[in-house]
Amino acid sequence: MITRKISTALLLIAACIASALPYAAIAQQSKNVSPVAPRRELVEAVVREAYQKFKDDTSGKNADYIPYLAKVDSKLFGIAVVTTDNQVFAVGDVDYSFSIQSISKVFTLALAMNELGADEVFKKIGSEPTGRAFNSPIAVVDMPTHTGNPLVNAGAIATVSLVSGATADEKWNKILDFYGRVAGEKLVLIDEVYKSEAATNTGNKALSYLLAKYDRIYADPFESVDVYTKQCSVGVNTKQLARMGATLANNGVNPATGEQVIKSEDVAHILSTMAMAGLYDGSGGWAWSVGLPAKSGVGGGIVAIAPGKGAIAVFAPPLDEAGNSVKAQKVIDYVSEKLNYNLFSPSSVSLK
Ligand code: GLN
Repeated sequence: MITRKISTALLLIAACIASALPYAAIAQQSKNVSPVAPRRELVEAVVREAYQKFKDDTSGKNADYIPYLAKVDSKLFGIAVVTTDNQVFAVGDVDYSFSIQSISKVFTLALAMNELGADEVFKKIGSEPTGRAFNSPIAVVDMPTHTGNPLVNAGAIATVSLVSGATADEKWNKILDFYGRVAGEKLVLIDEVYKSEAATNTGNKALSYLLAKYDRIYADPFESVDVYTKQCSVGVNTKQLARMGATLANNGVNPATGEQVIKSEDVAHILSTMAMAGLYDGSGGWAWSVGLPAKSGVGGGIVAIAPGKGAIAVFAPPLDEAGNSVKAQKVIDYVSEKLNYNLFSPSSVSLK
């Protein structure tokens, strides 16, 4: 009798668990899917339109202070959107690997925050726009923090110096591995870019010594510049760059691998820094017209983040005076307007 009761109870428990399973699976799935990720057909159409509209735009000029960059084909053009639920939309030269350049600064910042916490990084680097060119020594002298923010060269070299490691090589390998986890696939150095930049980076070396004068660099200055130069020479294609952005949009979780690569509590700090300084002295105009945190690199890439929704990455080498890809700015402006992504617009979260 007692045994029968026990086995009935066990059966009941088993039935309950079994019936709860599909719900658990659904709950798990809906936890991972953003309620605001955009509709597939819409994104597809807008990305195609943007490509057609801007493909023949030839304004701007390749960076030439790094000799390699002057030789990159100015007509290369790729657009990719990756959403927080890992839909990928890509058109143009999206498999071409270009140097990530300054966009790397965002991810080394994330790594330093993973290691030290946001408060410590803020204390040591700060987050104030400089209103000057990205490589300005005057900003280092003038700014009360000297480092300015982690997205200009001086602040970025200081951020590299914060990353832990017994040797410069150990730091570099850690940074490269981290970028790969943010992208969801292994990334590699473009050796020719590194050599070209290492042979001409006297300005960055000067910045590192200025930082030393103000006690705002936390490891050997030249070693830090060397690791920084390598991180700028990492190759990414437009799709990989969009996925790196989507990891930020997805609260630090890579939408392809599911790994929490960046701490969720750091994401808002990183995006706010991008909003203020991601396009250097072009950041004010960018916030005014596009309203999305973004980061540019002199290799011709820009990635913009729509929190909770996804990221848009564009690659087109010709730059404006501030060092931001002209075509990439136009495309992101167009796409984010059509998708109603502007963060400062209440309608972007469906408030009519
Ligand atoms: N490696 C480049 C430099 O240090 C990065 C600049 C950029 O992309 N804005 O000048």
